[in-house]
Amino acid sequence: MDAPPSPLVILMSEDDSKETSNGVDEDEWHLYASADYGAAESLENSEPSKEEEIDVEWFDGDDFYQQGDSIDWDAPPCPAPLGIAHVIKIGACDHCLHRIGGRRTQSSGFEGGASLRKEAFSRDAGLSDFDIPDLCPLCENLFDDVGNIVERIIETLEETQFRSMQLGIHIPKDLLQSEDAIRTKHGARGSKPLKASFAIAIQAEMLRKIPEIAFVKEYPDVMVTVDALTLRVDTDVRPVFIYGRYEKLARGIPQTRWPCRSCRGRGDGCESCEGTGLQYRESVQDIIGDPVKADMGAFDTSFHGMGREDIDVRCLGSGRPFVLEIKNPKIRETDLGDLESKINSNNPEKVKVNSLKWCHKKDVSRVKETRSEKSYTIRFKIEDAPPEDQIIDSINSLSGVVLEQETPKRVSHRRAAKTRKRKIVSISDVVVDDQEIQFSLRCEAGTYVKELVHSDEGRTVPSVKSVIDRECEVLWLDVDEIHAD
Ligand SMILES: [Zn+2]
Ligand SMILES: [Zn+2]
Repeated sequence: MDAPPSPLVILMSEDDSKETSNGVDEDEWHLYASADYGAAESLENSEPSKEEEIDVEWFDGDDFYQQGDSIDWDAPPCPAPLGIAHVIKIGACDHCLHRIGGRRTQSSGFEGGASLRKEAFSRDAGLSDFDIPDLCPLCENLFDDVGNIVERIIETLEETQFRSMQLGIHIPKDLLQSEDAIRTKHGARGSKPLKASFAIAIQAEMLRKIPEIAFVKEYPDVMVTVDALTLRVDTDVRPVFIYGRYEKLARGIPQTRWPCRSCRGRGDGCESCEGTGLQYRESVQDIIGDPVKADMGAFDTSFHGMGREDIDVRCLGSGRPFVLEIKNPKIRETDLGDLESKINSNNPEKVKVNSLKWCHKKDVSRVKETRSEKSYTIRFKIEDAPPEDQIIDSINSLSGVVLEQETPKRVSHRRAAKTRKRKIVSISDVVVDDQEIQFSLRCEAGTYVKELVHSDEGRTVPSVKSVIDRECEVLWLDVDEIHAD
């Protein structure tokens, strides 16, 4: 890995992080985090030593303040020498001894604890004869595993580029409770609880190995959960989002992947879809998404359009706004200009993009919810055409009209039946070409334009059919412009 771009972290070697984060939505992750990982703690990019200085009340000398009215003179809390001695007797590991000992030492962690222990032994030689239990009652030797855990995190994220990490820790409740009881009784005031200390230790070790990581509370590049009981490490590489506009230059392409009607895209597909699982081999989603997946080493994409056109409708002009969600990317940062070129050379006859820029998850709902006026051109056929100027006048008379449109028959299986009012803002360029007629219009979001022409058996009122009094057969429809963003 010579010269990685920017201070991004790239960990190389073989990897298959697909399984770990596939399809886990951000919201779902939070559910999971707050369910089983009830107090899952995430800590901000903090220098551990600084944080300790702020939160922990340190004691430099032997001066001991009475806390409350009952002092257990057999075992007063740390930092009293008897307190330290007691914590040693019950078998605290060096890390916990330092953590709850409340004494300033030159080094921290295990080393700091070791020097406290040495001091205590020099005060009371008998202390070293105590039978020390195998497991530290404060952490069950959890801190021994920090290096191992960090190794696993790094291993799991091999080949994944990331700048920021959010850490969630799960520690069994009974251990947290017994630790809290011991620390409250014998620890120095202000000693950090086990979970926070453990998280800080992991962060410190991570930063020692990869100094560029920022630990954040929200919008991390990767989320890591550590189960202290099983030492299991789970990582979730968060998606990245790209905003853009697409032009669909050919008919017969659905906007998003369309599963095969026979096999519903399950398993390895079927005969009728030739094993692709798709009803249509191509989609705007994949013509755009495939080069992006390849470029960013991503597992999959989700496509969020500002509405969608029918399969047989082109989308021209400056294109339809969309957000592409790139799932589980190994590369998070790429040159969008290059990416745009790659997409635009993938299938330039059919789909092109412009205006690509990085965006956020919240832009998905913004784009999906935006309702904007659109301009169309539609061509249709009639028989027994009336005089040309009569056709032109009749169609122009619809300009400014508010339509009443019942839910079209073709979509009624998907949408509840209701009547919409939609305004035709303007009509222009009416062209009569023998039996074929074409015109352009601008209308409110949500207007059913084919139905405006053929009337959908009278469900749209008024309609081109009603004003020229002829059956109209729609030949094609183009979206000329989406007046958004
Ligand atoms: Zn311990
Ligand atoms: Zn199939």
